[in-house]
Amino acid sequence: MRTHYCGQVNDQLSGSSVAVAGWVHRRRDHGGVIFVDLRDREGLVQVVFHPDQQSIFATAEKLRHEFVIRVRGTVQPRPAGTLNPNLASGAIEIVASELELLNRCDPLPFQLDESVSEEVRLRYRYLDLRREIMNSRLRLRHRITRSMRAYLDGHGFVDIETPMLTKATPEGARDYLVPSRTHAGKFFALPQSPQIFKQLLMIAGFERYYQIVRCFRDEDLRADRQPEFTQLDVETSFLTQQQIMQLMEGLAVTLFREVLGIELPQPFPRLSYAEAMRRYGSDKPDLRVALELVDVADLVRDCDFKVFSAPAQDALGRVAALRVPGGGALTRKQIDEYTAFVARYGARGLAYVKVNERARGRDGLQSPIIKFLSDAALSGILERTGAADNDLIFFGADSAKVVSDALGALRLKVAQDLNLASSGWQPLWVVDFPMFEWDPEAKRWVAMHHPFTAPQDDDPARLQAEPAAALARAYDMVLNGSEVGGGSVRIYREEMQSVVFGLLGIGPEEARTKFGFLLDALRFGAPPHGGIAFGLDRLAMLMAGADSIREVIAFPKTQTAADPMTDAPTEVSEAQLRELHIRVRTPPPT
Ligand code: ASP
Repeated sequence: MRTHYCGQVNDQLSGSSVAVAGWVHRRRDHGGVIFVDLRDREGLVQVVFHPDQQSIFATAEKLRHEFVIRVRGTVQPRPAGTLNPNLASGAIEIVASELELLNRCDPLPFQLDESVSEEVRLRYRYLDLRREIMNSRLRLRHRITRSMRAYLDGHGFVDIETPMLTKATPEGARDYLVPSRTHAGKFFALPQSPQIFKQLLMIAGFERYYQIVRCFRDEDLRADRQPEFTQLDVETSFLTQQQIMQLMEGLAVTLFREVLGIELPQPFPRLSYAEAMRRYGSDKPDLRVALELVDVADLVRDCDFKVFSAPAQDALGRVAALRVPGGGALTRKQIDEYTAFVARYGARGLAYVKVNERARGRDGLQSPIIKFLSDAALSGILERTGAADNDLIFFGADSAKVVSDALGALRLKVAQDLNLASSGWQPLWVVDFPMFEWDPEAKRWVAMHHPFTAPQDDDPARLQAEPAAALARAYDMVLNGSEVGGGSVRIYREEMQSVVFGLLGIGPEEARTKFGFLLDALRFGAPPHGGIAFGLDRLAMLMAGADSIREVIAFPKTQTAADPMTDAPTEVSEAQLRELHIRVRTPPPT
């Protein structure tokens, strides 16, 4: 049908006859001459219809937005003064000699260059995807997976599929369930990740596995999450943690080089979880922001300000300061807004000190709390934060968790508001995560990564004796404040796996019912192994410079986990339910 893509017709083809096909992007009537910007996936080209081409001119007059046509014509330079330097084909136009109307298009629900609600975009996603920006995002995503596959292939990885209809794997979210017709009353779970299967592939001896795989997690979609999302899933055998991290760092570096032409700074810095929390209040710090949290509990332990002294004396408390360069210019109203902002993270207030003139000591400072603080405390705080004239120091004083969460988030917010972040890419590894986190509601330990992650200390007895202190062989790859990958070295001996299940409150019976097949497999010569999974959607979003993963997924769900185009999820017929041995409770229990 065509000899060239629209976007690829250029002045080198001047004088030749070409055939192009695509969508009418724009149509302009210029006193008898009709101009059409014809669009296909590679871009636009201008087609000119002259009235003397009588056989086609009448059809050209009827063309409307998004009609599908095929055109044959001669490429010629555009008249002087009408060149469009923004288009690859901007120096030429095609003078049409043949026109075939392949299909019409109803009036559009929205114009492609119009900004409309996401609901409308998703309802007509096939139109939304015609936009150049969406086209380029999905093709960027394709280049990402192509580059990943090539890298992994080059390093001996084998692409193996794992089941979609399976049994629950605990990654800490709710399962999507699929009723079984042939086993009345029984359900498959869609995989939250191929975690156990990839470990079984290591036990089977494949050594290096990968898969670009859909995972399903029925979570509340508050943050930018999707019920189904894609991971690059990787597992290896007989490699140390350092080797796995190195191999995966190589993957990230190659990916950025090949897809974006960007050299990531190497080697990626490594931060322990404890240090990340201490300095950045986050286990996924954005290193483009230079601001750091500084601990000051020791300076305010004995002050007369309970808000500070109480958490400073509490083993689980934290008192920290955050210097905001130039923050002296913040207004009362702005500070109130930041106070409301940190309240979302549980902070009950936001104390601050303005540094007007540091050299004047106490007299050069301005704050409602200065009267409670000794000269030694004040000068210690100024020293540690490195505050200069016209800076402002914010304080967090509460449980360590609240302080880290609140000041960690405030650090990013202030940096954004005051333009303090540098541009570019800042990758790092976060390592030495705790094995367990205490869940105060359930009153039990939960795995910080997942229950198959190995502790750094190989002794099951010591782990059992002191679970709170145990560190995991887990690692996260973080990029510009987003966790793009996370993995661990796994437990490969049954004894340790049983101890960890026990600590997580999974008794022997439950472990047997849920993971008996894994525990069995661990007794049949399981090699040391470990791996990682990258969130493909998030990585593609970052690389595309988009602000939501929905922008790099062809057909995403809305924030309420529905699809406005197909209307899924929908009710099903009584007959179908009967076959599946299901009766729907109506109205749904509240
Ligand atoms: N299965 C883990 C996850 O989905 C990643 C891994 O440990 O490899 O987060």
